[in-house]
Amino acid sequence: MENTILGFGAMRLPQTDANNPASVKMEETQQMVDYYMEHGFDYFDTSYAYHGETSEDVLKKTLVERYPRESYRIADKIPTWLLTHEKDNERLVDVMLERLGIEYFDVLLIHNINASFINLAESANSFEYIKKAKDEGKALKVGISYHDKADLLDEVLDKYSDIIDVVQLQINFMDWLDGRVQSKKCHEVCVKYGVEVIVMEPVKGGSLVNVSDNVKKAFKDYSDKSIVDWSLRFAASHENISVVLSGMSSLEQMKENCETFKDFEEITHDDYRFLMKMAREIKKTLAIDCSYCGYCVKECEMGIPIPDLFNLYNGEKLHSLQANYGNYGTITAANAPASACTQCGTCIDFCTQKLDIPELLKDVANLFENV
Ligand code: SF4
Ligand code: SF4
Repeated sequence: MENTILGFGAMRLPQTDANNPASVKMEETQQMVDYYMEHGFDYFDTSYAYHGETSEDVLKKTLVERYPRESYRIADKIPTWLLTHEKDNERLVDVMLERLGIEYFDVLLIHNINASFINLAESANSFEYIKKAKDEGKALKVGISYHDKADLLDEVLDKYSDIIDVVQLQINFMDWLDGRVQSKKCHEVCVKYGVEVIVMEPVKGGSLVNVSDNVKKAFKDYSDKSIVDWSLRFAASHENISVVLSGMSSLEQMKENCETFKDFEEITHDDYRFLMKMAREIKKTLAIDCSYCGYCVKECEMGIPIPDLFNLYNGEKLHSLQANYGNYGTITAANAPASACTQCGTCIDFCTQKLDIPELLKDVANLFENV
């Protein structure tokens, strides 16, 4: 869509230690910020929770303290799962503003609205709060980031469309027609209510790149564009979309993504059909449909590195390698193995992909621990 821009997602920044989300490489992140700004983009997306609650501070040091406030926009998110009382909204928002070192947000979202968290947000009057924050000039636009089915989104927008300006939605070619994620239906609901859509997870946490050799070959035969390029262009080729966020983890990825948006080309009808075919092929080989967002990890009191284990499981199912077993040993020695799962179910409400994490961890344990 014309005027859709690339957004800088500050949730997968480069790290010095893969096991420590707070170990952000500041120098490389600063180079990424500079490259992004030099190429005419201005939209940064963060949250209270990203990078072990350090993402906002990283943006303060690499962006806010180095560029004039009017030269960039910042979207931030209230951690819905920490809301126990109405007063928590203001308290958390003040922390977020202070961490960023700014006076106002360009976009303020209630984080990860789904069938469980909508109750937390409503009990804490968060929708009324974001309206008040906008009226008081603490936010220029307000809304939600959303991870659930289209019916619930319709109910939420029906109730709060006079408040919500923006919905952040997961859109990528694999989830577009998926019955669980329902990207297409959710997008249609947003269009119906005329709200602005910010796209997240256009490459599904990078999982659309780690595909089978057959799928890679099919992309190569179709065109010389990369899978990332196709993913970003697919996400941006729909109505009402203003920003496509990419959680870039290196300067290299930043350069590639900026290139896609420099001479942006919408996908054609033939491209759409090709991508839907590729989505079906990828689904056949992807064992666990995890987007590696990491929301579940901090909720697990056993300290199980859930996305890392799912990533290894998917890798092993795609290409069986002895190294996967070695890596499983290394990762679980520093944290906890899949078999440490107590089946408590705490993580399930946090899963953005609606996965039955405890059940899937049984499969992971069976594969890697019963050898
Ligand atoms: S169900 Fe398992 S993985 Fe999920 S929070 Fe409980 S112990 Fe952790
Ligand atoms: S299991 Fe769910 S919450 Fe955890 S990283 Fe994967 S998609 Fe995210």
